[in-house]
Amino acid sequence: MNSIEKLTEIFSHFSGIGPRQARRFVYYLLTRADSTLGELSQHIKDLKNDVVMCTDCKRFFEKKNDKTTLCKICSDQTRDHSTLMLMQRDIDLESVEKNGSFGGIYFVLGGSVPILEKEPEKRIRIKELKTFLEKKAKEGLKEIILGVNWNPEGENTGDYVVRTIEPLTAKYKIKISHLGKGLSMGTELEYTDPETMKNALRNRS
Ligand SMILES: [Zn+2]
Repeated sequence: MNSIEKLTEIFSHFSGIGPRQARRFVYYLLTRADSTLGELSQHIKDLKNDVVMCTDCKRFFEKKNDKTTLCKICSDQTRDHSTLMLMQRDIDLESVEKNGSFGGIYFVLGGSVPILEKEPEKRIRIKELKTFLEKKAKEGLKEIILGVNWNPEGENTGDYVVRTIEPLTAKYKIKISHLGKGLSMGTELEYTDPETMKNALRNRS
């Protein structure tokens, strides 16, 4: 495999990128100056050094020093730690956070569960979620909001999560609500505008 093929192969694994687009990226890079490519590879190298995963919510964040393990949201005591929103991906969390209508905390599942998936536990961070819930329940967690996309795969992910955490939510009397009920079918959280998000939060059930 030559360099063009190797890079094409890597890019084609990116979410939403097919082999043709991946190849186009490679040819684009070939037209750039050496210095730009050098900068790009440096940024890629730095990524894993500068960015870590929060031990609580599992989102990626830029660390300040080697001691940081909790992100800004999780360590912020002025936020409402009794309300937790479950997100499929970091990008969904970012868009909810950007529009500022939610003051609680989050957990990033890291994916979704396709319909008829035989090993759903390998698709999302369900084990980590249970550990996190056990800890937060003892600290007064009252409500879990399913912030999954309002489409069949998002629904399936939500159903699987609700089923799996049922013993915990029953034991600690945690309410489960659904953000999607306030959105229209097919809505992806990533593209939801602030007003719609505010309404969805207000009308969650
Ligand atoms: Zn966090």
